[in-house]
Amino acid sequence: MQSIARNQATVAKIQCLEDAPLNPLNGNAWPSSHNDILQGRRRLPVYGRYQEILDRYHQSPVVILSSETGSGKSTQVPQLLVYDEYESGLQIACTQPRRLAAKELASRVSDEMGVVLGEEVGYKVRNDQKFDRKKTRLTYMTEGVLLRALSSDKSLSAYACVVIDEAHERTTDLDLLLALLKKTVSRRKDFKLVIMSATMDAKLFQDYFNNCPLIHIEGRNFDVEIFYASNIGTSLIPAAAGMVVKIHKDQKPGNILVFLPGEDEIGQVCRLIREHTGDLDVFPLYSSLSASDQRLALSSTGPNRKCIVATNIAETSLTIDNVVYVIDSGLSRQLIYNPRLRLEMLELRPISQASAKQRTGRAGRTRDGVCYRLYSKEAYDRLAPSTEPTIRCASVHSVILRLVTNGYREIVDFDWIDAPHPESIARAAQDLRDWGFLNDDASFTLSGRIAARCPLDPIWWRAIQVGIKLGCTMNIVDIALLCSSQTSIFLNPSAYREIANFGSAFFKDSISDHLTLANAFDAYMLARELYQQENGFKFDLGDWCFDNGLNIGALEEVRKARLSFGNFLNDIDKGPHNIKIPRTRAPAGDATRVRKALAIAFCTQTAIHRTEDVYRTIHENTSALLSPHSSLVEGNYEWVIYDTFRTTGGKQYLQTVTTIDPKWLMELPFFQEDRFTKKVDGSLKQPNVKRSLDDAKAKLETAKN
Ligand code: ADP
Ligand code: MG
Repeated sequence: MQSIARNQATVAKIQCLEDAPLNPLNGNAWPSSHNDILQGRRRLPVYGRYQEILDRYHQSPVVILSSETGSGKSTQVPQLLVYDEYESGLQIACTQPRRLAAKELASRVSDEMGVVLGEEVGYKVRNDQKFDRKKTRLTYMTEGVLLRALSSDKSLSAYACVVIDEAHERTTDLDLLLALLKKTVSRRKDFKLVIMSATMDAKLFQDYFNNCPLIHIEGRNFDVEIFYASNIGTSLIPAAAGMVVKIHKDQKPGNILVFLPGEDEIGQVCRLIREHTGDLDVFPLYSSLSASDQRLALSSTGPNRKCIVATNIAETSLTIDNVVYVIDSGLSRQLIYNPRLRLEMLELRPISQASAKQRTGRAGRTRDGVCYRLYSKEAYDRLAPSTEPTIRCASVHSVILRLVTNGYREIVDFDWIDAPHPESIARAAQDLRDWGFLNDDASFTLSGRIAARCPLDPIWWRAIQVGIKLGCTMNIVDIALLCSSQTSIFLNPSAYREIANFGSAFFKDSISDHLTLANAFDAYMLARELYQQENGFKFDLGDWCFDNGLNIGALEEVRKARLSFGNFLNDIDKGPHNIKIPRTRAPAGDATRVRKALAIAFCTQTAIHRTEDVYRTIHENTSALLSPHSSLVEGNYEWVIYDTFRTTGGKQYLQTVTTIDPKWLMELPFFQEDRFTKKVDGSLKQPNVKRSLDDAKAKLETAKN
């Protein structure tokens, strides 16, 4: 390896190393698959343009690379840079928007480089990594992981280069990364940035990075023929399932990949397909599925044709073997934030043309493919060209904390590629001040400094602080981790309807979904302990979870997150500010203080009862149903707080809900009359809210006297 000086690699030198009898990275013999893999790689369009990529990379600190999906960006470019940067002893980071993609790519590329995953090639995602401090040269990581690295070292001095992959996804983390890395580039002469995507708006990125060079690689491996739906009007579920069944009956072998907006639709379509086919292996794939079920969908092989029914998770990065047919519903569930209403909603929306192209590209990765779009050509032409950057449709509380952490206070005038809406910034800045995280000059308070390092959303650090005051710190920590888990700890009950004594009712707290989650987690921890005691009574933990309707993978993730959160708390205790976080727990049977802590922290997410299961949010005056999974259904409680507001099938739902007592809120500034929504004539839009608060006050007075 010493044969290539830093930034002096050429294709000839690299090929010489790849053809050498021993692997230059570790000095071992190559695995037996080496030659086959190498020949395949050398046929990829990106490999064919290695020299041009190297030349541009040597000439410019920032390079943009665009090419069709499947041409070898994610797997080949980082490898190329490992050779080119090897002599520096520094690392290469390649970011991915999704954890699954980061892990899959690391695994594929370690095979291609003939090394053990976790040695020269590794990955880092939250709470999970395979990485060796001394050996690892190439790390696939999520954008969030790199952001955290930037917070502790703005110059990223451990890295020679960052490769930003899937730049078109424009996650909030990505936009923030681009802005911060732009500064790193100007700070360090030897640092390089490569930005890659199949479908991005290259001009926008070029303008942002001072007209840096753009390499566009034409041509893909295989053709994909596109068909549009002619009989529009059939509803989505039967249309998607029907198309799968038809392909399976009439078309040549080849796997099928279906894109649907979410878990509910996926469940229904899978069921319909299974009813109408026998010899087809059907797998759902979505982010809240357990990691082992996700792996199963990706890697299972058998004699039957395989059909994967997925959300956006399969839209980028993943290579699913032998997908020949793609069915695109044209829809996805997208986050929409309304700062005026303080509502972050998941809404069903049409995808963009860029997204549609990306989905199409999933076929023809390993051979010629076909894409069936379940919408008309006219509908396609009407789609927005690219997906709106998330930073413009999400709340920006944690973005602001990150910027302040990195030393920037000019949030509105910051050098964004696309600035967040000024109203979102104003809302977030106001909340962060209300929560005591920021001073008026946008500098950190002590709490703010901790909130910025906390691996949870800032509102959860706020809740934990209230929990500390009320003597239930650890109850709130558990609830925070459970609510922040990507995967639900409960198995989707509708998918397991056939199980007679499906036990999740067992954990149910009839007045709090938050406590229901905590009960289930506590029960799991207890069961886990029994399971580990050698002399304890024997049972299978996996079976126990399944019988109780619990997702063991998700529970394990929360357990690991709790361990690492424990380290975060220990770091605060050991930190320079002389703070000790009391690890208190509410006495068993006293859940009131936990509900009170939640009420105070989530006071901007309160709702009051209207009729049956309909509630109306207090400050935005928007009505919503209780989620059908909530334990409060049919409870008719007066006041509640909620964790998520979501729209599905045109209806609005409150998810993860807890009943509260208005007397806990009446002193808060947010509940004074001047903050309530009013009609044009100045009267209150929801007089019942004021009445209820007045009643609570009166009751309290009477109790005092
Ligand atoms: P891009 O990032 O340009 O979309 P990738 O680098 O992900 O392309 O993939 C390039 C090619 O490598 C794919 O078309 C496929 O042939 C092959 N490939 C990638 N991942 C795998 C995998 N896990 N198994 C088999 N082949 C793979
Ligand atoms: Mg890719």
